[in-house]
Amino acid sequence: MSYLPADDRYESMPYRRSGRSGLRLPAISLGLWHNFGHTRPLETQREIVRRAFDLGVTHFDLANNYGPPAGSAEENFGRLLASDLKPYRDEIVVSSKAGYYMWPGPYGEWGSRKNLVASLDQSLARLGLDYVDVFYHHRPDPDTPLEETMGALDAIVRSGKALYVGVSNYTSEQVRAAAAILRDLGTPLLIDQPRYSMFDRRIEEDGLLDALEEVGAGCIVFSPLEQGVLTDRYLKGVPADSRAKTSHFLNEDSLDEQTMSKVKALNEIAAARGQSLAQTALAWALRDERMTSVIIGASSVRQLEDNVAATANLDFTADELAAIDAASIG
Ligand code: NDP
Repeated sequence: MSYLPADDRYESMPYRRSGRSGLRLPAISLGLWHNFGHTRPLETQREIVRRAFDLGVTHFDLANNYGPPAGSAEENFGRLLASDLKPYRDEIVVSSKAGYYMWPGPYGEWGSRKNLVASLDQSLARLGLDYVDVFYHHRPDPDTPLEETMGALDAIVRSGKALYVGVSNYTSEQVRAAAAILRDLGTPLLIDQPRYSMFDRRIEEDGLLDALEEVGAGCIVFSPLEQGVLTDRYLKGVPADSRAKTSHFLNEDSLDEQTMSKVKALNEIAAARGQSLAQTALAWALRDERMTSVIIGASSVRQLEDNVAATANLDFTADELAAIDAASIG
């Protein structure tokens, strides 16, 4: 059946400006790393994507290698764009990335101009789009001069194949260097995409938000739910259809007694706030206004709805923050 988005789709989602750019992103973005490959039914994918847009999620985060198999998430999202979202192309932000292994030989990964330009062309073909809104360098490349990688991003914007550029997994030092090169070229750095959650505080130790504020870029974080660990998913065991059972990216051994007792304590803090643990974990990651957005994954509409409802309460008392630190660190 043809898709008509909800009329009230812009009524509850907060939108935050990415750094000092003109682009505002939804506080909750949807990532297609898992759950959108050829291993999942297209109908389930369609339900999640439609519901997301109905709830004001205007930003869809992809990369060349998302699937499995690699490339299939872009192909499937391309199908959903064609069947459902094409009329709303100007209401959505589509992001993609290059940098991780994608094809054999010396040009299929990392940060050369050769890799970035070819990979984006492949992504656009899979997505059925003329341009992506945001194109990222996916991970720092120790062997390619940063000038070359940033020069490729600048050239891509000038070619019209991306509107904005970002970097992912860059530290504060790498962000400062990248932003300076891009500024000189005349293409500002839009955003950095690091990993961040109650269980992964590395960006706090690195002072990343301060560095991003300094250069005028935003911050969008991935795996804010620790791939599902910071939810009720594993409180009563390990379900057969869960990521811990179905993907090598989340090791069942990491759900040990120590971790699960932290999760249980955090679940009680969330309940006292009147939220699910997933909602509290997302609200917590968004507590600093400089945090532009969190990218969630969802394998069902129910999870998506649970996560988006986090925006109903993004405020924390000092006592709640202290309790979360005590329960999650150490
Ligand atoms: P999350 O931490 O949000 O984990 C998502 C998983 O958690 C879901 O697949 C689901 O697991 C479970 N889950 C989500 N919501 C709920 C809920 N409300 N209740 C119970 N369980 C829930 O994020 P991801 O690790 O999936 O990463 C999000 C996105 O970030 C990716 O899709 C990608 O776009 C981006 N990313 C970027 C990276 C980079 O290097 N730049 C690296 C990794 C991700 P289950 O499948 O078991 O149901």
